[in-house]
Amino acid sequence: MIEIKDLHKSYKMGSNSLHVLKGINFSVGEGELVSIMGSSGSGKSTLLNILGMLDEADSGSYTLDGVPIKNLNETIAARYRNKFLGFIFQSFNLISYKTALDNVALPLYYQGLKRGERMDRAMSYLEKVGLANWAKHHPNELSGGQKQRVAIARALASDPKVLLADEPTGALDTKTSYEVMELIQEINDEGRTILVVTHEPDIAQMTKRIVNLKDGRIINDTKVDQVKAMANV
Ligand code: ADP
Ligand code: MG
Repeated sequence: MIEIKDLHKSYKMGSNSLHVLKGINFSVGEGELVSIMGSSGSGKSTLLNILGMLDEADSGSYTLDGVPIKNLNETIAARYRNKFLGFIFQSFNLISYKTALDNVALPLYYQGLKRGERMDRAMSYLEKVGLANWAKHHPNELSGGQKQRVAIARALASDPKVLLADEPTGALDTKTSYEVMELIQEINDEGRTILVVTHEPDIAQMTKRIVNLKDGRIINDTKVDQVKAMANV
């Protein structure tokens, strides 16, 4: 589903340059649930933004579902983003003046669906995340965990091949974090490919594979049951 080879990225600030990704190689198969773990500043968000076509690498290659992602104009990039990718953020990024239902329905507007179908589909995704009764409420009437569920429903509404989540539990308490990760596990169980960026080992343990990033390099890439087995030795 995702294949990246020798990816490099630097940020230029005046005459200075900060080399953030220093030759990243990895692949993610269809249906995987992978976490990208590393301390703050290790380059996790930079990598996820490149995978999400929100930013471009300086060199290296990226193939998404067989499509080489390189030098695309913004119209094509936006179309691919809408077709392939769903995003979940730490800060939820819901639109405050829209109801939960309208937030979930928004990506479907950009897909050109008629209003009735948009509302039906949005409602079915709100049901899926357990928030059917909250459809008419606005984000400020919802708890943090409920807001993230709405954001997950919105990310799913366009039926993307891959979900990209950047610190999805970063603004949530421990119990709510686990509940949100359980929802992410359920969505993965249905076959959807999911990448979760986190700096929290407990959250990474709730995925199936942990890719450890340090100073812009992958220092290990482990199946979670192996990690557990090692911890039990
Ligand atoms: P993480 O998500 O792991 O905390 P980031 O990918 O956000 O790491 O950042 C990696 C490094 O790149 C940090 O040193 C950060 O300050 C820097 N950085 C991130 N985004 C930018 C940017 N747009 N311009 C300049 N430097 C940036
Ligand atoms: Mg980050």
